[in-house]
Amino acid sequence: MNAPSRLTVRIDRKVCVGTSNCAEAAPAAYEMDEHAAPHGRDGASDEEILQGAEACPVGAITVFDSTTGKQVFP
Ligand code: SF4
Repeated sequence: MNAPSRLTVRIDRKVCVGTSNCAEAAPAAYEMDEHAAPHGRDGASDEEILQGAEACPVGAITVFDSTTGKQVFP
């Protein structure tokens, strides 16, 4: 079992165009709601969170280290 991630995700809804690449690349970390808007999921690993963020074609996903507050992606 993966250790709990220290990463937190911020999805900019003004930038997101609803492609669902994030959820397809990392379904453990991102899911689409009924309005085609992505949401971060609890319990995902660091790798899954970063994989989904890297899959976003418009850079809508920013990832932070919740312990230091530092931006780790992009
Ligand atoms: S990959 Fe990016 S543009 Fe596509 S749904 Fe996820 S956040 Fe939105």
